[in-house]
Amino acid sequence: MSETTKYIFVTGGVTSSLGKGIISASLAKLLQARGYSVTIQKLDPYINIDPGTLNPYEHGECYVTNDGAETDLDLGHYERFLNVPTSQANNVTTGRIYSSVIEKERRGEFLGKTVQIIPHITDEIKRRIKILGQSGEYDIVITEIGGTVGDIESLPYVEAVRQMLWEKREDCLVIHLTLVPFLSAAGELKTKPTQHSVKSMLELGVQPDILVCRTEHHLDDSIRRKIALFCNVMPTSVIESLDVSTIYEVPLLMQNEKLDVEVLKKLNLPDNGEPELLEWKDFLKRLKEPKAKITIALVGKYVELKDSYKSISEAFYHAGAANECKVELKWIHSAKINEDNLEEKLGDVDGILVAPGFGSRGIDGKIEAVKYARENGIPFFGICLGMQVAVIEFARNVLGWHDAHTTEIEQQCTHPVIDLMEEQKSIKNLGGTMRLGAYDCELKKGSKVHDAYGEDMIEERHRHRYEFNNAYMQDFEYNGMIATGKNPKTGLVEVVEIPEHPWFVGAQFHPEYKSTVERPHPLFIGFVKAVIKQKQKLEMKSKVS
Ligand code: GLN
Repeated sequence: MSETTKYIFVTGGVTSSLGKGIISASLAKLLQARGYSVTIQKLDPYINIDPGTLNPYEHGECYVTNDGAETDLDLGHYERFLNVPTSQANNVTTGRIYSSVIEKERRGEFLGKTVQIIPHITDEIKRRIKILGQSGEYDIVITEIGGTVGDIESLPYVEAVRQMLWEKREDCLVIHLTLVPFLSAAGELKTKPTQHSVKSMLELGVQPDILVCRTEHHLDDSIRRKIALFCNVMPTSVIESLDVSTIYEVPLLMQNEKLDVEVLKKLNLPDNGEPELLEWKDFLKRLKEPKAKITIALVGKYVELKDSYKSISEAFYHAGAANECKVELKWIHSAKINEDNLEEKLGDVDGILVAPGFGSRGIDGKIEAVKYARENGIPFFGICLGMQVAVIEFARNVLGWHDAHTTEIEQQCTHPVIDLMEEQKSIKNLGGTMRLGAYDCELKKGSKVHDAYGEDMIEERHRHRYEFNNAYMQDFEYNGMIATGKNPKTGLVEVVEIPEHPWFVGAQFHPEYKSTVERPHPLFIGFVKAVIKQKQKLEMKSKVS
């Protein structure tokens, strides 16, 4: 642990979607592999207090931390790369910044002063940046500024960065991510957008130290020198970021480009030898050279925007690599499934996952998908709403309660097998009011989940309002659906299983949030393993007959 924390700011220019989150996570990984303790923070320039109330179509998945913060999906990348949990402090939005300043103003803490963007909003931004540094836990804090330089919304953030540089130049570093496009008509890479983007930074008083240039073609020495000269950085500070087939290659790409060496040099931190990243390379090898292939249906209602299920699809990469198997996801819109097209939609898949979600759209298709999996012995994994629909399907088709439902959708049904949690009943606001964050769960010995985790007590993250209605527990268990995971304090059902089925597991929590490259999630590993086994069994059977 160094005496002073170093701050690295990552900004983006030219266009959005250049991959600031992945570059930040990759740099953090390289620094962590050298023995530095690193954390990454995302500052989001929108006015929502957090992404919890955002439709996934707007912003992709809402990622939940152990301490129950609803955050930007980039925090998922940070955890998956670093294998270290993040928290509320790692994601701050403009809405949160303004709301704390306004609350302070209402309390009279500004003593009659006019409250302004500079210094009050920028001070609050700096305070939020420094909170992580002052915790004493980190040598390096990487702060990713969301949005693109030049946006009105980003201005206070870039100004806060300028002030941080003015206060502690030797402890701060700015990395600017830009695009170097290839114009096929001219047959050339073009540096002008990068020059303009750096110029926009300069107008705001910030000179980037390092440029990471996203490109589809190799940057030769003359282009690097040109960018360096016009953007006022050292030639070694022009880093090429070529497109790659998987995000997990980016740390190695950045290592080849010596981004970590350049960062350490500029921050006056000792370069304590090239990290080997053996575990990481081993994972990549397994990912790229699978020995088998399976297809899993991902049934959900936000499938048009794959970022809506980011942590689930990443967890399948981790679990696939752990099983040396390529997991192909077949994305199926739940609203397009009905009892007449089940064979067409699901007939060719080896496993079925029903995704989390809210509201009634597509729920019938989800119930049909569960029925198909249950009746045909297809390995099934239901997450959150996916678990709840598995309970509803069982109640309707096995227990014969045809009107069974969740009160989220049918408040007056006679068999509310999924019902609002007691503590949720008096809550009116939507933002930040669910059961959020990590809770303990006790697993039943001999169950599939217990086999998967190999532990009696686990801790998983939640994000829901409704739960299994314990009044019906006996009916379910007597007829073959067992609660194999329960909260030890409240008795809330966290996992249900059908032991007679090859692999049928529904989890009220979200295991996908905790899967990382170095710690692939046991439930995803178990599910993929079960799918492979079942597929092999079916292949053997068809060979014999
Ligand atoms: N809508 C359900 C609930 O609130 C499930 C939530 C989810 O899938 N994350 O309980």
